[in-house]
Amino acid sequence: MTKRIFRSICLVAISIFLVSIFLLMIVLFDYFSDVQKRQLRTQTALAAQGVSENGSAYFEGLDVSDCRITWIAADGTVLFDTSSDSSQMENHLKREEIQEASVSGMGESSRYSVTLMERSLYCAKLLPDGTFLRLAVSQNTLLTLILGMTQPILVIFLASVVFAFFLASRLSKRIVKPLNELNLEEPLKNEEYDELSPLLRRIDAQQRQIRRQSEELRQKQREFETVTQEMSEGIVLLNAHLTILSINPAAARLFGTDATCVGGHILSVCRNQELQELLNDAAKGNSAETHVTLGEEKYQLNAGPVIAHGEVSGIVLLLLNVTQKDKAEQLRREFSANVSHELKTPLHTISGCAELLSDGLVKPEDVARFSTQIYAEAQRMIALISDILRISELDEGNPGGKHEPVDLYELAKETLADLSEKAAKAEVTLELTGESAYVTGIPQLMQSIVHNLCDNAVKYNRRHGRVTVDVSKNPGTVCLTVTDTGIGIPKMHQERIFERFYRVDKSRSKEVGGTGLGLSIVKHAAKLHNAEIRLQSVPEEGTTISVCFPV
Ligand code: ADP
Repeated sequence: MTKRIFRSICLVAISIFLVSIFLLMIVLFDYFSDVQKRQLRTQTALAAQGVSENGSAYFEGLDVSDCRITWIAADGTVLFDTSSDSSQMENHLKREEIQEASVSGMGESSRYSVTLMERSLYCAKLLPDGTFLRLAVSQNTLLTLILGMTQPILVIFLASVVFAFFLASRLSKRIVKPLNELNLEEPLKNEEYDELSPLLRRIDAQQRQIRRQSEELRQKQREFETVTQEMSEGIVLLNAHLTILSINPAAARLFGTDATCVGGHILSVCRNQELQELLNDAAKGNSAETHVTLGEEKYQLNAGPVIAHGEVSGIVLLLLNVTQKDKAEQLRREFSANVSHELKTPLHTISGCAELLSDGLVKPEDVARFSTQIYAEAQRMIALISDILRISELDEGNPGGKHEPVDLYELAKETLADLSEKAAKAEVTLELTGESAYVTGIPQLMQSIVHNLCDNAVKYNRRHGRVTVDVSKNPGTVCLTVTDTGIGIPKMHQERIFERFYRVDKSRSKEVGGTGLGLSIVKHAAKLHNAEIRLQSVPEEGTTISVCFPV
C-alpha cells in the first residue's frame, strides 16, 4: 500500500509539474510575443526617424543582425534591404503591413517569409516623403521557446522529481502509519480517519458476531464435555485421518492414556487390529460394530462416520463395556438350561411312577412308596419353582415387600422352630445364642436369608452334629452367624457356592432336597440390604456363614 501511495503521489506531482511547465510556456510565449512586438514598433519608429533625417546615408555602415530593415519606395519598389539584394526583390506594395501603413501611418503583420524561410513579425512606418520603412524580426515559436529553455527546465524538473520522491515517501509513510496502528481489538476507538468509520463499524459488528458465535461454540463444547465426562461409556471423536479430536475420561482410562493424546493418531493409544479395521471401515463411510477384549474386559465398539458435503469429515467411536452384560446374558442362558434340567428330573420320576400306577403294575404293598416318591418329587418341584420365582423377583428388582424393623433374634428363633423336626430327623442339635437385635429390612427376604442358612447348616451336617445360630450387635452392624459342625466346603468351591445351581456335591444336595438356589437367594437378598456375607469353612469340620446388616 505504501508503494502504491508513493507511486501515485510521484505520478501526480510529475504530471502537474509537466502540465504547469507547458501552460507556463504558452503564457510566456504570449508575453514574449507582446514584448517583441512593442520593441519592434519602437525600433521601427527610431529607424524611421533616422531615415527621414538622413535618407539613404542612414544605412551606410549599419550593422544589424537581429532584425531586417527594408526601405520601400512609395510605389512598392524595394530601395534597400539589409538581408537581400534589393534589386532582386519583388514589389512590396501589396504587403499587408505596407497597405496598413499607407492608410494609418503604421502597419503590422506576421507571416511566413518566403525570403527568410521563417515566421517573421513585420512593422512598417510611412515616412514623410511617402516611402516606407519596414523592420522585420524572426518571431519565436512555442517550440523554439521550449527548446531554448530546455536546460533550465530539465534542471528544475530533476530537482522537482527528487523533491517529489522525498515528499511522496514521507507522505505515503505518514498516511499508512495510522492504518498499521489501527486497534482492531476495539475498532470504534480509532479516530484517525473518518473515511474508515464504515469499515471499522463493520469490523466491530463482525467481531461481536464472532465473539457471540465463539461463546456459543464454547458453551456447546462445555455441555458436550460435561455430558461425556460423566458417561461410563467411552467416546472418541476422530477426524477423517484418524487423529483424535476429543476423548472422554472413560475412553482415556480404557486406553490407558489421558487428554494429552488429543491431536495424536489413534494408533498411538491403541494398536488393536479389530479397532483399526473398524475405523478404516468407518473412514470409508460405513457404520460398523465389533467386539474386542481389552485387558480383562469385553467391549462393544461402534464407529459411525460423520458425513459433511458427501465426504467423511470425522468418526465417532463409542466404547461400551459389555463384560457384565455378557456375563448376565450367559448366566441367563445357563439359568434357563439349568431350570429345564432341574425340572425334567422330578417330572420324569413323577411321570414314571404315575404310569406304573395307572397301568396297575405296582404291587399293592408298593403303592404307598410310589405315592410318597411322587409327593416328594412334587414337593421338590414346588420348592424349586418357589426359589426360581423368588430369584426372578430379585433379578427384576422386585423384592416383594416394604422395609420395616425386623428382630433378627426372633426371626432366627422361629426358623429354628420350623427346622426342629428336620433337625431331629437328621440328629442335629439346634442352638440359638445372642440377643434381640432389630434390623430394617424386608421381612420375607430376611426370612429367606435366615431359613436358607439354617436349612443348609442342618442339611450338610453329620449325625449328632450341631447348629449354632448367633445374633449379635456390633458397632454399626447386626450380625447373624450360623455355625455348623457339618461336612464343610472345600476351598476351591467356596467362591462359587453363591452361584445359581452350583452345588459341591450334586447328589447329596438332591438327596437332602436342595435346589442349588438357596445361597444365590441369600447373596441377592443380602446385597439388597447392603449386608456383607462372610464364609469360613473347613472340610469335615464345619462351616460358619455370617451376614452382617448395617444399622
Ligand atoms: P442347595 O439347595 O443345593 O443347598 P445352596 O445354594 O443352598 O443350594 O448351596 C449350594 C451348595 O453349597 C450346596 O449344594 C452345598 O454343596 C454347599 N453348601 C451350602 N451350605 C453348606 C454348608 N453349611 N455346609 C456344607 N456345604 C454347604
